Amino acid sequence: DSDAGLAPLEFARTRNLAAKTPAERAEILRDPSFGTVFTDHMVDICWSVRGGWHRPRVQPYGPIALDPAAAVLHYGQEVFEGIKAYRHADGSIHTFRPDQNARRLQRSARRLALPELPVEYFLQSLRELIAIDGDWVPAGEDQSLYLRPFMFAKEAFLGVRPANKVGYYLIASPVAAYFKGGAKPVSIWLSEDYSRAGKGGTGAAKTGGNYAASLLPQAQAYEQGCDQVVFLDADRNVEELGGMNIVFVYKDGTIVTPQSDSILEGITRDSLLQLAADRGHRVEGRNVSIDEWRAGVASGDIVEVFACGTAAVVAPIGQLKGADFVDEQPVGELALSLRQELTDIQYGRADDRHGWLVRL
Ligand code: PMP
Repeated sequence: DSDAGLAPLEFARTRNLAAKTPAERAEILRDPSFGTVFTDHMVDICWSVRGGWHRPRVQPYGPIALDPAAAVLHYGQEVFEGIKAYRHADGSIHTFRPDQNARRLQRSARRLALPELPVEYFLQSLRELIAIDGDWVPAGEDQSLYLRPFMFAKEAFLGVRPANKVGYYLIASPVAAYFKGGAKPVSIWLSEDYSRAGKGGTGAAKTGGNYAASLLPQAQAYEQGCDQVVFLDADRNVEELGGMNIVFVYKDGTIVTPQSDSILEGITRDSLLQLAADRGHRVEGRNVSIDEWRAGVASGDIVEVFACGTAAVVAPIGQLKGADFVDEQPVGELALSLRQELTDIQYGRADDRHGWLVRL
C-alpha cells in the first residue's frame, strides 16, 4: 500500500461562531430535503506540485474565493464522491465502506489528471468533519448525513494542462429517506439521442462533466413523464442511469449487471451483489443489450429490474419508455429484500458480517 507509513495530517480547526443553534438544527433535521442545507463546517486540504498535500483545515462552512481564471471554471478539471454517515440506535456514527469511495476518488482523480488523495487522508477528513459536526447526523428512520468530498483545479491559468494547484474539500448535508412512503417503482426514459460516455472517455470517473452531459437527456426524461434516464453505449448495450447503476434479475435467480469501462462502479451495487451472492444467487457482470432487456421482459426471462446508488439505495424500475414503445417492467421482491438487508447493516440493525462499517 502506497499510503503505508504516511504521517497523519494535523488539521487546524476554526469554529463557526455563527453555527446553527441546537433548536435550529433540530428543526432542519426534522425533515431535511436533499442537498439544500449544509452543516456548520467544512474541511479543506490544499495540494500543489511543490508542496504536495498541505494546510489541512476545518473551518466554517462558506463560500470559496476563486480566481476567475481558476482552471476548473474553464476546463472542468474536477472529481467528487458521495457517501453517507448513519446514526445507530446507541448514538454512534458509522460510515459504509469509505475505503471504496477513497479508492474510487483516486481512480477518478487519475483520469482527470488530478493528484490522488491518500486513502488515510480521505478517512481523516471524514473523521474531522464528524468530530465537529456529528450532531448533524440525524437519528430518524432512513435519515443520514450525506458527505460530499470533492477536488478541483484552483490554479489561475488558461493553458490547457493539469493544474499545479488543487483543493480538496468535504461538505455535508443531512438527508431524509429518498422515497417517502416506501420505494415506489420508477419510470425510465431510454435516451437514444444522447450518450453519457464513450469508450476511452470519462464514464468511469465521478467527474462533474458527466453530470453536466446528463442534464439535457434527463430533462427529456421529465418531458416524457419519466423519473430517470438510462443510457446505452455505441453498441446499444445498457450502461447506467444518470446517477445510479442498473441490475437485472433473471428467472433462474441469476443477477446480471452491465460491466464496462465507461460506467461508474457503484459501491451500493457491489454490496447488493455480494449480499445476493451470499444468498446463493449467481452474479454476472457482462453486456446486456437493449434488445436482450426488452425480449427478456417480454418472454418472462427477466423477472425484476432495479437501479441502485448511495442516495436512493435501491429503486425498482416499473416502466421503460422509448421513442416508440412503453414496456411495463415485472415487479419482484428481491430488490426490496436486498435493500432491507443492506440498510439493516448500514443502520446497525443487522450483523456487519463483511466488516463494511467504519465507526467515525
Ligand atoms: N452511477 C452514477 C453515474 C452515479 O453517479 C452513482 C452515484 N455515485 C452511481 C452509479 C452509484 O454509485 P454508488 O453506489 O457508489 O453511490
